[in-house]
Amino acid sequence: METRELTCICCPMGCSMTAEIENHEVVKVTGNTCPRGAAYAKKEITSPSRTVTSSVHVTHGKLLMASVKTKEEVPKERIMDVMEVVRNLTVEAPVTIGQVLVEDCAGTGVELVATRNVDVV
Ligand code: SF4
Repeated sequence: METRELTCICCPMGCSMTAEIENHEVVKVTGNTCPRGAAYAKKEITSPSRTVTSSVHVTHGKLLMASVKTKEEVPKERIMDVMEVVRNLTVEAPVTIGQVLVEDCAGTGVELVATRNVDVV
C-alpha cells in the first residue's frame, strides 16, 4: 500500500489529505472535510490536469499583450506543449474577452481564449 500526502486546492480551507493507493487506484482518502477533496485527490493522482493561464503578443493594439487561458483543464504533462503554442502566438487587435484564439491548443482538444479586451490603437 502506497500513501500520498496532498493539499486540496478546491477551496480556501486547503485541507491536508492522505490518499491510500493500491494498484494505481486511490482506495481511501482521509483528511478531506467534504467530498470534493476526495474527488480532487482521485483525479490528481490518476489524471492530474490544470487550467493554463498566460499572455500572448498583440499587434496593432493599445496593449502589447493580452491575457489568455485554456477554456478547460489540460493534462499536466501537456502544459509545456500548450505554453509553447502560447509563446509563439501573436494575435491582431481587437481582442475580446472570450474570443477563441486557438481552437485545438497543442492537440489537446482544448480552446485557448482571451481573458482581456485589447482595442485597436
Ligand atoms: S476538502 Fe472540501 S473543505 Fe477541504 S479544501 Fe477541499 S473543497 Fe475545501
